[in-house]
Amino acid sequence: MKIILLGPPGAGKGTQAKWLADKFTIPQISTGDILRTAVSNNTQLGREAKKFMDVGDLVPDIVVIGIIKDRLQLNDCKKGYILDGFPRTLAQAEALTEALASIGDDINFVINLKVEASKLVRRLTMRRVCKSCGQMFHLEYSPAKVDGICDQCGGELYQRDDDSENVILKRLDVHNQQSKVLEEYYYKNGCYKVVDASLPIDQVQSFMIAILSD
Ligand code: AMP
Repeated sequence: MKIILLGPPGAGKGTQAKWLADKFTIPQISTGDILRTAVSNNTQLGREAKKFMDVGDLVPDIVVIGIIKDRLQLNDCKKGYILDGFPRTLAQAEALTEALASIGDDINFVINLKVEASKLVRRLTMRRVCKSCGQMFHLEYSPAKVDGICDQCGGELYQRDDDSENVILKRLDVHNQQSKVLEEYYYKNGCYKVVDASLPIDQVQSFMIAILSD
């Protein structure tokens, strides 16, 4: 099963992608996570990407398309995968369609997690992420049992550099300018569904499962 999760920053793509990955035992592939790992390892890719990520801009298409093409060739992708944060531009979506078509393949489901823009800033400024396992928490809606410590693995929780208010506003703007177009692209493709991601998390998950069972 090959799934794309679309949606603005703060819609819950990462949380839902992790949940689906566990449920279907397929990998969650997050270009954001791959880039953050490169940044923290201070690789050349990381140093280049950081300049864009710090200000809320997209990393150039050629870089992320290359990352995804390499990643999708790994063995764990044979049964399927969940793309979280990719594609984010029309050029990325077209490159993915082309790469899959060249091996007679296609995406099975595109789920757009929709949330009103007014809710996103609060979701993101109060988000905390585990440094070790990537589990996400929200200071108000889903706080860790012990402040600053991950419930799942005991790792340290931190606030992403780009979850500051000014960068969040830029990321939302970039989403509207460059990623919204994907809704129409995948709608035309016929495998596109929308889920109201402002609902409680268990309801969002039930809707996703209903879509994926179709
Ligand atoms: P995310 O964790 O998905 O919110 O991504 C964090 C940041 O990584 C984004 O604001 C971009 O700077 C960069 N990034 C992640 N995925 C992509 C992508 N598909 N295309 C371009 N930049 C990306």
